[in-house]
Amino acid sequence: MIAGAGIGGLTAALALAAKGFRAVIIEKAEKLEEAGAGIQLSPNASRILIELGLEPLLAPHAIALDAVSMMSAPSGRELTRIPLGDAARFRYGAPYWIVHRADLQAALLAKVNDNPDIELRLGLQFDDVASHVKGVTVVQRKDMAREPETALALIGADGLWSSVRNHLFPDVRPSFSGRIAWRGIIEASQVPRDFREKRVQLWMGRNAHLVAYPISGGRRVNLVAIVEGEWNRPGWSEPGNAAEIKAYFDAPKWPVPARLMVAAVESWRRWALYSIKDGGVWTKDNENVALLGDAAHAMLPFMAQGAGMAIEDAAVIAHCLAQSPGDVAGAFARYAGQRRARVARVQRAARMTGQIYHLGGPFAAARDLGIRWIGGAQLLARQDWIYDQRLG
Ligand SMILES: Cc1cc2nc3c(=O)[nH]c(=O)nc-3n(C[C@H](O)[C@H](O)[C@H](O)COP(=O)(O)OP(=O)(O)OC[C@H]3O[C@@H](n4cnc5c(N)ncnc54)[C@H](O)[C@@H]3O)c2cc1C
Repeated sequence: MIAGAGIGGLTAALALAAKGFRAVIIEKAEKLEEAGAGIQLSPNASRILIELGLEPLLAPHAIALDAVSMMSAPSGRELTRIPLGDAARFRYGAPYWIVHRADLQAALLAKVNDNPDIELRLGLQFDDVASHVKGVTVVQRKDMAREPETALALIGADGLWSSVRNHLFPDVRPSFSGRIAWRGIIEASQVPRDFREKRVQLWMGRNAHLVAYPISGGRRVNLVAIVEGEWNRPGWSEPGNAAEIKAYFDAPKWPVPARLMVAAVESWRRWALYSIKDGGVWTKDNENVALLGDAAHAMLPFMAQGAGMAIEDAAVIAHCLAQSPGDVAGAFARYAGQRRARVARVQRAARMTGQIYHLGGPFAAARDLGIRWIGGAQLLARQDWIYDQRLG
């Protein structure tokens, strides 16, 4: 049984079914909806999705990126271009894709609905779980009605504010990073032609950065603006006020194309960025319950790896369970052992990357010199440990 039908939960169901298990997903939402935003799927993640048979469903909607352009906000100049495209596909054996989240979800959902070994139950919330010799009893809730059901194991893929994590590790709480992500979409016709290429454009400025890339077959551009800020309200996502974000990206600190893009967005949504402690939390001794994705290890998005790590988790947990279906707690302990160090390294890299992007003054000048000196090809090689992960 899997709690949560996000990218992690849906992929876990597919990975488990591919290993011969039957999976039931319970999802508290009545209808599956993804934020109207794009997502980067680096080769470590796209490889797994391709192995699960998703390429025919995803490739028509995905854009295989040619490069990442790193730019200094104050000068507006490109510091270097990290080659992706055929170079990445050749190097890592899988593409670096960008997809609209709704397209990724639709592809996963189509594959799930097509699989007789997977049952997706919408409008049902995980409420409680108890481990015992036969596996677990999971209590599901709809309104006031509670329904217990026995399963071999429970996987908590229920996101940042996970109830399954709360049950296993009540003391572990997500911590606010002091950063807020604003997301918006614009029509590609609103930006200059060279900003419509199959590139991620990353502008680094003092205390803020801006990321833009094409989605929906290049018809639209996805914008993510990261700024520093306070967050005292409950929940973690809400509509954003366009005038507020425009004030962060003003002249002369930000170049014309960046300001143009920020000004063109009509409807913003903003996310407070939280993370779980480095290395995450996974399972407990003798429990047939494990966590996966943001529930286990929510991280800052600056390496674009949150969903990538959830997808890797899904492949590894299915592999470990298939190795010892009669010893679920042992399988989950091995899963945690295989994931912890890698995820901790990605979390640390994401945090450090965010700090480097937001440098100002002489530190920013030193960073820019360093990026130029290292160059795009070497910067790509430095990501091998993430992108070249091949899970057995
Ligand atoms: C600004 C930003 C940009 C990002 N960009 C990237 C990127 O480019 N690449 C990348 O790899 N990652 C990126 N990420 C991270 C990525 O979005 C997340 O890591 C990923 O979506 C997490 O997936 P998940 O399935 O673990 O959790 P979620 O997507 O949060 O899914 C959890 C599901 O569980 C359900 N649920 C919750 N509670 C219960 C319950 N009690 N019972 C039943 N169901 C429940 C929820 O309704 C939800 O459907 C980004 C994140 C942000 C904020």
